[in-house]
Amino acid sequence: MSRAKLKKLGLDLPVLPTTTVGSLPKPDYILKARAKFARNEIKYDELKELELEAIAYWVKKQDEIGLDVIVDGEMYRGDMVAYFAETMQGFQMGELVRSYGNRYYRKPVITGEIKWCGPITVDWWKYAQSFTDKPVKGMLTGPYTIMDWSFNEYYASRSEAAMAIAVELRREVEALVQAGARIIQIDEPAISTRLEELDFARQALNLVIDGIEAYFICHICYGNFTPVYQHMLALGVDNLDLETSQRISALEEFIRDNRFTKDISYGVVDVHTHKVESVETIAENIRHAIGLFGVDAVWIDPDCGLKTRTIDEAVGKLVNIETAVDRVRKEIAR
Ligand SMILES: [Zn+2]
Repeated sequence: MSRAKLKKLGLDLPVLPTTTVGSLPKPDYILKARAKFARNEIKYDELKELELEAIAYWVKKQDEIGLDVIVDGEMYRGDMVAYFAETMQGFQMGELVRSYGNRYYRKPVITGEIKWCGPITVDWWKYAQSFTDKPVKGMLTGPYTIMDWSFNEYYASRSEAAMAIAVELRREVEALVQAGARIIQIDEPAISTRLEELDFARQALNLVIDGIEAYFICHICYGNFTPVYQHMLALGVDNLDLETSQRISALEEFIRDNRFTKDISYGVVDVHTHKVESVETIAENIRHAIGLFGVDAVWIDPDCGLKTRTIDEAVGKLVNIETAVDRVRKEIAR
């Protein structure tokens, strides 16, 4: 358990710290403003004002619900890879491609040497942190996922491209830490998709974070974890954030044979359903996680980002998570 590390960083979190994975639903006024901005009908400053308003809303809302570690909700991001590609040198935005379901995004193309041109997320982080005394997570997309979801026309190999991205992303992490971020989450949804590339995917992620004084979380979704456990445990992060609300029996079998050596952010609600899970269903998931990993290692959150839910659904799920965690904390205290 990395509780000692958290303490050393000045973070005194309660047992079963609660958080979210990152994205939260964008209010209608943001969706409309983004569409207008895309059609050149408004200036970026006008859109940005609204993004700031939405971040303030979500930070205060999470604080009010009682979450222990806060996110900015990613109001300014269209897509988790394109956002970073657009802000680093060496990428051009390519054609529209389909990602999952009916979502389309512009797939970036690497056409030159990748360079970090200055802080990407730091101002957003500082702004979000200004509304709460609780820690706000620094959030970025990992080097493997940025590489995998881009076309590469410049580097000799996929691994070379991932390493080049990693070196530059590390500067973003350093800038976040310098600004005061103590918990940083790196999203690597693509990392479990190609077994033959796991070695360099892991090296790239470790290159981003090695030796930096912060508590690191890695979020991995698309749940086929079975073949990748050993690699996940070799990642240099403190906490693995996994999609677990549907109870992954393969994961559970693995843990019985191999000690899980990290903290886990255990997903207790499904982000793909409109239904708000009951407090007792969530509490059962939490008790189950404690049984598997031990109470000290467990953080509680939704499976993935909540951006595809309505605001009411997202708030409903988070309120029920917090109520369920309170219930289980009382049981533990007894
Ligand atoms: Zn996810």
